[in-house]
Parts: sequence; C-alpha cells; structure tokens
Amino acid sequence: MPSQAADTFKALVVDRDADKRQSVGVRELRVADLMEGDVLVRVSHSTVNYKDGLAITGKLPVVRRWPMIPGIDFAGEVLGSEHRDFSPGDHVILNGWGVGEVHYGAYAGMARVKGDWLIKRPEGLSPAETMAIGTAGYTSMLCVMALERHGIAPERGAVVVTGAAGGVGSVAVALLARLGFHVVASTGRAEEHDYLKGLGASEIVDRGELSGPAKMLDKERWAGGVDTVGSHILANLLAMTKAGGAVAACGNAAGMDLPTSVAPFILRGVSLLGIDSVTLPKALREEAWQRLVRDLDRQKLAAMTTTIGLDDVPEAARNIVDGKVRGRIVVEVA
Ligand code: NDP
Repeated sequence: MPSQAADTFKALVVDRDADKRQSVGVRELRVADLMEGDVLVRVSHSTVNYKDGLAITGKLPVVRRWPMIPGIDFAGEVLGSEHRDFSPGDHVILNGWGVGEVHYGAYAGMARVKGDWLIKRPEGLSPAETMAIGTAGYTSMLCVMALERHGIAPERGAVVVTGAAGGVGSVAVALLARLGFHVVASTGRAEEHDYLKGLGASEIVDRGELSGPAKMLDKERWAGGVDTVGSHILANLLAMTKAGGAVAACGNAAGMDLPTSVAPFILRGVSLLGIDSVTLPKALREEAWQRLVRDLDRQKLAAMTTTIGLDDVPEAARNIVDGKVRGRIVVEVA
C-alpha cells in the first residue's frame, strides 16, 4: 500500500502477563506492526467511551486479542488506500467494528483498517467535533431515530434519559431538547443538575428514585426513553412508560440484567427497542451522522466536551467506569 507515513508512531497498548494481569502504557510502534487492512489512516483525534474504559481497565472482557491498541473511534486522514471508496487525503471517521477490541484501534498515531468500516467525515463537523460525538453520541442519535420510527413525538409526552450526565446521556438530552421534547434527565449526580438544564433538560429525576426493584406497572410518566444503564433503572422506566410508548436501550452502566415483567409489554403495549451501534450497516451510520450534523447544537456539544492527550487516557478510562466523567472526552492523538 502506498504510504507517505513516517514509519514510527506512539500508541497506547494494553497487554497482559501469564497470570492475565493487565497493564497499559504508551509504546513506539512501526507501521509494519499494524494489523491487516486496506486503508492506512493518520489518526488525529479519538475519544473515551465507556467501552474504552472497560477495555483499558479490564473490568469486562472487551479486549479479545493481546496485545491490543484500544480505542473504538477515530478521526483522521487517509495516507494510503487500496479500497475503491478512499484515496490519500480523504478525511474519515470510524466507529466500532471491533476496532480497539479485536483489531488495533484508535489510541495510536496510525491505524490500518478495512475501508468498509470507514465513512467520510461528515461535512460541517471538524475532526475534534466528530470525536466529541464519537460512538456515544452516534448511539444517542440511533436511539432518537429508533424512538422516531416508533412514532414517539413531542406531542405524545415527555421522554426520559438515564445516565444523563454521561456521554450517551448528555448527547441524548441535547438532541431531544433540540427536537422539541420535554426531556426528563435522570442522574445520580446532584452537582450536574445545572449542567443538564444547560443542555436542555426540563426536569431532573434523581437516579435513586428509579434504582429500586420495579413494580409490574407504575404511574405513567413518559412516552419514551433512552436508557444507558440497564438493570432496575430500565425496569422502572418500562413500568413508568405510557401506553404505546417505547424505550431505546443501549447501555449497561448499572448492570447487564433486566429484572422486569411482561406487564408493560402486554398490558400497555410498551416496546423495548434494542440499539447496537457496533456493526450497523454503512447507510444507517451515514444517516445518523447526517442527523447529528443537522440536529445537534454545536455550542452544547462544546459545553459537554473536555479535551485530553494520549497520556491521559488511562486515567480517563478509570474515571469513566467509575461514573465520574461528565459528558464527552476528545483525545488529541496527533
Ligand atoms: P458514561 O460513563 O459517560 O455514562 C454512563 C452514565 O451512567 C454515568 O455518567 C452515570 O450517569 C450513569 N451510571 C454510572 N454508573 C451507574 C450505576 N451503577 N447505576 C446507575 N447509573 C450509573 O458512559 P457512556 O455514555 O459512554 O456509555 C453509556 C452506556 O452505553 C455504557 O453502558 C456503554 O457501554 C453503552 N453504549 C452502548 C452502545 C451500543 O452500541 N449499544 C454504544 C455506546 C455506549 P449519572 O451520573 O448522570 O447518573
């Protein structure tokens, strides 16, 4: 593959020893060390999603090949390509596809990936803005689109967002508010109430109110929801959803379980909409990104974003799995 790349670059690498003890550190790698792919990209920006936190801390088995360069999202410029859709100089982004899990990922100056995983950087967004959105924000948009397909519109009532001060939650609050919804933001952090109101939340619900075991059916409070946490909170959301409403479930920050009953589904016709961003077909990805260009308020995106360097990623990873990160993080890789 033709390449104008300098041969060496910095990469954050996770590795583990014979006793499966995990370590993480910055190493110098060569282009020849990268895995197979038909497009070589100079990475300029990445981000830290919850999944990246899990990969770097080893809290859940996200990494399935060792050693691994974590990082599930990047923005960058094509340096060399054997793929029909991409040429040197193209500006691209990547979200998911097992990158940072089984294929060397985004926390590196260079990445070699399959061109089928890339999309052109949406016009109107800078590389840093695409990573401020990242998988988290793109998944929020997928949740919003799923609710819309289900016919959830502002006139049908409020929508609730859980884990609201986190990455997926913050973008979901901003998007839904911009689309005219009365947004109920659920958070466990009292200090983030003003932040969430700034993003457009009309009402705040303390996470504790939704954390206990759910009744089969509860008072109907919202027409729809975006859930990033799972477990009892998702069960409560379902029990509190109005007849004919829907909840888009994308996350597991509180757990992988779902202690619910069939009552919301069979007595109120509530729908649970599953969202998986990782291997979504290209056309749907591009549609979601176009919607983000149109519907996400750029000032609110800036207000929810913090920028860090590659060396700061391990600390950010620990913070995100501890639920301490507010909004989104951009990693300046270059
Ligand atoms: P963040 O850590 O930024 O946000 C998660 C938020 O959940 C926290 O900020 C906190 O919000 C809340 N939270 C954390 N721990 C708990 C807990 N124990 N109980 C209840 N609430 C908790 O992560 P992201 O926004 O990046 O990701 C959110 C979830 O979405 C993750 O589970 C992630 O894996 C998933 N995800 C799934 C995707 C998919 O394709 N399905 C794609 C992207 C993300 P607060 O303090 O406001 O309560």
